[in-house]
Amino acid sequence: MIRFENVTKRYRGTVKPALSDVDFEVQRGEFVFLVGASGSGKSTCLRLILREDVASEGRVVVLGRDLRSMSNGKVPYFRRQIGAVFQDFRLLPTKTVSQNVAFALQVIGASRAFIHQAVPEALALVGLEGKGKRMPHELSGGEQQRVAMARALVNRPPVLLADEPTGNLDPATSIDIMQLLARINAGGTTVLMATHEAGFVDQMQRRVIELREGEMVRDERHGGYGDTS
Ligand code: ADP
Ligand code: ADP
Repeated sequence: MIRFENVTKRYRGTVKPALSDVDFEVQRGEFVFLVGASGSGKSTCLRLILREDVASEGRVVVLGRDLRSMSNGKVPYFRRQIGAVFQDFRLLPTKTVSQNVAFALQVIGASRAFIHQAVPEALALVGLEGKGKRMPHELSGGEQQRVAMARALVNRPPVLLADEPTGNLDPATSIDIMQLLARINAGGTTVLMATHEAGFVDQMQRRVIELREGEMVRDERHGGYGDTS
């Protein structure tokens, strides 16, 4: 699904690479935590997967496509196959919940009939049935993140990327979002989640990839947040 082959990423004007020789492969259906201190390269990994940026050396292959050789014109189509949620939700503040979710389908030219069916289904998936007419500011942070997840998933992407999705949420709400991510993964979606939440990582005992100053220092099949070796 996602393969990093000896990936190095240098940002223009910086000395130390943001990623150095990072090498891993994520299979279909996996749940993977990406952990590491702030600045260790987690967001850079996610940006490379979304083809928001390209590797300086090595290859990033996502859904069978080498992202270096992908033309810019193909990028929007490629991105439709990857759901993404972020710490700051990134909802459109002047649109209703349903419109926020529908927007993801409207931009790809889905039919009105399909949108009318898919939007309520996506809201039901995240436990927001009946909230379609609300505005984002009328919702709690946890509900807003659920809207973002509905929007990310309405297209039924095989992969969901989550960059600190619980970073702005209180502990109880974070647990709900974590459970939702686990449920989505159980439904077959591959999930890659960058996080600082040691408690969740320890509890879930899923695969853990740890970065330190851009280097991959750990890839454990069933790991916790801290290094156990
Ligand atoms: P994390 O998500 O783990 O906090 P990042 O991937 O954001 O880490 O950052 C990794 C390193 O790359 C950091 O040293 C950061 O300062 C640097 N970096 C990130 N984005 C840029 C950029 N656009 N330009 C220059 N340096 C960047
Ligand atoms: P427009 O008519 O300008 O497209 P709408 O207010 O109908 O704007 O909403 C935009 C999209 O959001 C519509 O295409 C519709 O499918 C979807 N939508 C709006 N409200 C709902 C709802 N309650 N349930 C499902 N989908 C909705």
